Amino acid sequence: MRQALIIGAGIAGPVAAIALQRAGIAATIYESYSGTAESVGGFLTVAVNGQYALRTLELDHCLAAGFPTPDMAISSGSGKLLAAFPYGPTLPNGPVARTISRSDLYTALRAEAQDRGIEILHGKRLLDAESDGSAVRAHFADGSSAVGDLLIGADGLRSRTREIIDAAAPSARYTGLLNTGGYANGVRLASPPGELNLIFGRRAFFGYVVHPDDTVWWFANLPESTEPCPKDLSCMDLRARLVTLFDRDRSPALDIIGRTAALAAPYGTYDFPSVPTWSRDLMIIIGDAAHAASPSAGQGASLAIEDAVVLAHALSEKSSATAAFEHFEQSRRARVERVVAWGKKAGDGKAPGAFGRLIRDHIVFPFFVGPHAGRGKADPLSWIYEFPSHWDALATS
Ligand SMILES: Cc1cc2nc3c(=O)[nH]c(=O)nc-3n(C[C@H](O)[C@H](O)[C@H](O)COP(=O)(O)OP(=O)(O)OC[C@H]3O[C@@H](n4cnc5c(N)ncnc54)[C@H](O)[C@@H]3O)c2cc1C
Repeated sequence: MRQALIIGAGIAGPVAAIALQRAGIAATIYESYSGTAESVGGFLTVAVNGQYALRTLELDHCLAAGFPTPDMAISSGSGKLLAAFPYGPTLPNGPVARTISRSDLYTALRAEAQDRGIEILHGKRLLDAESDGSAVRAHFADGSSAVGDLLIGADGLRSRTREIIDAAAPSARYTGLLNTGGYANGVRLASPPGELNLIFGRRAFFGYVVHPDDTVWWFANLPESTEPCPKDLSCMDLRARLVTLFDRDRSPALDIIGRTAALAAPYGTYDFPSVPTWSRDLMIIIGDAAHAASPSAGQGASLAIEDAVVLAHALSEKSSATAAFEHFEQSRRARVERVVAWGKKAGDGKAPGAFGRLIRDHIVFPFFVGPHAGRGKADPLSWIYEFPSHWDALATS
């Protein structure tokens, strides 16, 4: 049986290991963190395309700790509701987009991989790897090494595998936005549970969704044109900054922030417009390592899951890893780069000022509030949520 080394136990890593197992390839996952503390904190929404990919591997229950998020509402900082529409289509037997804490998602995927007999080794930070054409050897920071028939870098935005494959690989692009967020208790809001509210405030962007238990899960995107260094971020009086940014808006932002005990430490957000080289010899990158989309796309996790499924399928169909990698790239590059481009535009529309307004009014809003948007009409974002019909065959194969 072929053996794969998978670097990273985030989202793409465990899903890839499970998909490979179905394709008759054994995998071991190597994760740099020694425990699971890295995933504590934020939350994300897995759209139906990501859920569909999970379902092909019978992994949809890994989202059980989350909650349905069927609708979105977009408002301006003046309090005006601009549009309300479904958060993507509904899957054939009912599921809609689902919001889940990162920690719960990582934990469930890792547990499922382990239940299926896949080994996850912690404290294994990849330093280097080389291939002799028939095998690949990975070297880890703890001095150990491992040999496999192929290596899959699912090691995220700061991927070491990406650099090993191509020393000239580009660095991530700073999107001009900082992210923070938290969980608020005791706020009374009109929004029904599971409606994702996005508010284009006068000075910053705010998003929130009410959990069925009435906790409010929220995030804010703060404009910061220059990429901040860690020292600037650690010195920032975040609560005061948020108050200044949102005090002119007619929105629940200040109330929600005020009722949040712990604010997430702010951090810069990034994407990759295009990573030219995804594979070399017996090594390939998937997920954020290959094509991180701005958080504004709300698609990075779903694309990572899709990648895992499509790569395993390619490896099961093609006679060599190289042929499978080529097929994978042909299937995936156009789609993921289109989503990254959409996410960049959506993020640019969140920045205040003339440029942000231009993008927001002429590119972002028309998607949601233009003549073709709204319930019952053709969804201009439907291409994002589409899943190839041949995945049905994958689910049963
Ligand atoms: C603020 C924010 C909000 C987001 N919201 C959404 C959303 O609503 N919906 C959505 O679909 N996506 C969202 N995303 C994107 C999503 O989180 C990512 O696209 C997704 O986590 C990518 O999965 P991955 O497995 O490729 O990488 P990751 O989840 O980053 O996992 C990479 C793993 O590799 C490990 N690793 C790194 N380097 C090494 C090494 N050298 N050796 C060994 N292991 C290593 C890391 O520790 C980590 O466990 C958001 C992102 C951000 C930042």
